[in-house]
Amino acid sequence: MKAIAVIPGKPNSVHLADLPQPSVSEVPNGRGVLVKVLNVGVDGTDKEINAAEYGAAPPGYNFLVLGHESFGQVIEVGPNVTEVKPGDYVVATVRRPGSSVYDLIGTNDMTTDDVYYERGINLRHGYLTEYYVDDAEFIVKVPRGLRDVGVLLEPLTVVEKGIAQAYEIQRRLRVWHPKRAAVMGAGTIGLLATLALRLRGIAVSTFALTPKPNPNAELVEALDARYLCSKEVPIKNGAKQFGPFDLIFEATGASFVVFESMQALGKNGVLVLSSVTGGDRKIEVPADRINLDFVLGNKVMVGTVNANREYFEAGVRDMAQAEAEYPGWLRHLLTHPVAGLENFTELFEKLSGSKGAIKVYCQVAAAEERELWGKKIVRAS
Ligand code: BGC
Ligand code: ZN
Repeated sequence: MKAIAVIPGKPNSVHLADLPQPSVSEVPNGRGVLVKVLNVGVDGTDKEINAAEYGAAPPGYNFLVLGHESFGQVIEVGPNVTEVKPGDYVVATVRRPGSSVYDLIGTNDMTTDDVYYERGINLRHGYLTEYYVDDAEFIVKVPRGLRDVGVLLEPLTVVEKGIAQAYEIQRRLRVWHPKRAAVMGAGTIGLLATLALRLRGIAVSTFALTPKPNPNAELVEALDARYLCSKEVPIKNGAKQFGPFDLIFEATGASFVVFESMQALGKNGVLVLSSVTGGDRKIEVPADRINLDFVLGNKVMVGTVNANREYFEAGVRDMAQAEAEYPGWLRHLLTHPVAGLENFTELFEKLSGSKGAIKVYCQVAAAEERELWGKKIVRAS
């Protein structure tokens, strides 16, 4: 079967590779789930892997199959799988357990191992292929009503984890009712963070570089959130006008924004950092001032990466609420489809070059549904 792969360490090596079709029996204890891939999103991580800045091939291979934002349909399950059945729509998690104590309790997103295993990113093949098989433990069911937007679940889980961590940390305050939040960045993650915070009843100000009008600003405003161009209203000024911010979610991909955000955080506030910044940038900051305000204001800052199953399940619930509260909003993020694995060049061109792209994704195959006895049921062949 076809797969989109790179040769790690070799820049711009994205190509079409060939893989044997997997089978449920590869997974021990009758817990295998064979999934037909429908849609796969791509993001900055894929861009970095193709630029040879990141990523490693699985042992025994010189290539790595890309794709960690999956959406598919179950084809076959092993005899001990009760959670999903053929025809169900599913998303697979990304990281696989290592050996630290955190991995052993199902929180492999918190691993302290130096080597980590991530499908489509590091040491494990990804989902930009026709079929994949995995243990039911790593497969999350997506209700049929979310079929058209299910490919957004993985990016949403990064947000879910960040926000859940913030609430968990803020239990230190005994009582925490966040009223105002800021989101830094209005890319896919910034938009999804704006959504998730709005779903929790928080007033959100989202800061981004591009001045209004632009589609991302419209999406922010459709959530009854405030869109601010950070060149016109720097976050520190924004905090005076629209704060104090109880929570700031940083998702710009630019590390200097972290230090500006630190200066805009309200007393007892929490700053969540989610940008993976591979560079080596240096800046000068008012260190005494920032430190003083953090100390006197009992503030906290936390880094977050990846997501375990719990956050995928939370993401499904938020997606359902989003469809009820802001119908059709999620679909607007799916701006740039590319049909077929063989069009990998177009996929990567769109990923690196498209103005106005929110989510670029590969439509690998169409879902299989059949009308039966006047009732819409789903069947996988
Ligand atoms: C993925 C995460 C992953 C991280 C670091 C992100 O693009 O969405 O699941 O942990 O990259 O590899
Ligand atoms: Zn990603």
